[in-house]
Order: sequence, then C-alpha cells, then structure tokens
Amino acid sequence: MAKNTGPACKLCRREGEKLFLKGERCYSAKCAFDRRSFAPGQHGRSGGRGGRGGSGTGRESDYAKQLRAKQKARRVYGVFERQFRRYYAKALKSRGITGLMLLQILESRLDNVVYRLGYASSRAQARLLVTHGHFIVNGRRTDVPSMTLKVGDVVAVREGSHGAKYFQELPPFAENRNTPAWLGRDLKSLSGSVLRLPERAEIEGSLNEQLIVEYYSR
Ligand code: SF4
Repeated sequence: MAKNTGPACKLCRREGEKLFLKGERCYSAKCAFDRRSFAPGQHGRSGGRGGRGGSGTGRESDYAKQLRAKQKARRVYGVFERQFRRYYAKALKSRGITGLMLLQILESRLDNVVYRLGYASSRAQARLLVTHGHFIVNGRRTDVPSMTLKVGDVVAVREGSHGAKYFQELPPFAENRNTPAWLGRDLKSLSGSVLRLPERAEIEGSLNEQLIVEYYSR
C-alpha cells in the first residue's frame, strides 16, 4: 500500500498547511495544525523551513520550492516517490499539459475516487476500505487502491459489504459531501462512476503542478 508511514499530522505541520489527511478530525478542534502550526522538531518554532507558510524566515531556493511542491502532492495523495515518478513519466509521455495530466492521473486513482465520492472521510481511509476488498470496479472485486480508473468506469461497494455497520451508516454522512462534477454518484446503490477527467479548477488543494514539473525537469 502506497502511503507515508509517519504520523499524518506532522506532515501538515511540515508543509505549513492543512493537508486534510485524517478525515473528520481535520475539521474538528482536535486538528494538530490548528493547535500547533509550527513545523515539528527542535527548530520548528524558531522559523526554520516548514513553519506556517512553509518558507520560514530565510529565502527559499527555487529547488527547495520545487521539492516542497512535489512532496506536498505526494503526501496529499499518499504516494511513494517511485510511484509518483512513474506517474510523472506517464504524464510526460501523454499528449496534453504535463502538470495537469499528472494531477488527473493522481485524481483517477481508485482510493481518490472512493474518497471524492464521499465513501471515505480521507484518502487513507479509502485505501484501507479498498485494501479490505469492500469495493468492486466494473463488477470485479479489487483490492488495489492505486488502480487507475478510466472514463466510464463504475465503482461500487461490494454487495457483501452493504450490511457492514460502516456502510449502513454511510449515506447520511456521504450526503453532506459534495461530489465533484466529473464523478457521478448513486448513494442508493453505494456506487459511482467516472464521467470525465477533472478540469484543473475542480482539483482541490493548493497544489502547484508547475513547480512539480520543474522539479522533475532539472
Ligand atoms: Fe492535518 Fe488533519 Fe492532522 Fe489537522 S488533523 S494536522 S489537517 S492531518
């Protein structure tokens, strides 16, 4: 499973902003970033790299900015470096704007789609649900969170999982979550589909794909 293994909240403090990695907790008073927005570690409070705003007191080099942009995207989507580099290579090969293609590839991951459909409160939870075999794609069971979905693909909660307490209680929670326009959702059948690829404006979060492209183009 592709994920960061360190405590998620430290990653937010390191990046100097909320990355919303822990679902409901991120919107509650328990959010570690809201309570301690300085970077973790001995020099966190003293304004070193990664304090609120991410740049600290010194001037950040272009390389440092590019590296931070790439690390942030990796952390948001929970992708290891090797896999992220593969996504970049795929985006580079494809026709279209490389940065946007990269974001579209990341958004098309099964765990992200489950999260965006409102069937999980975070991508980490979505990964876990997929890994435990609760979802089917186009009628077939899969436990691969990194699976890339295509336009027309249909994701659904497996029939045998409908009775699980989590999925029984899910609809009221999911109803409060807006589904992006590039996805279709049917809460009654606990399913959803990819209607098209997301446009840039539909991709949430303060990601800077241009800096990521610059990082890999060095
Ligand atoms: Fe980040 Fe969420 Fe932790 Fe807050 S609760 S620091 S937003 S992962």
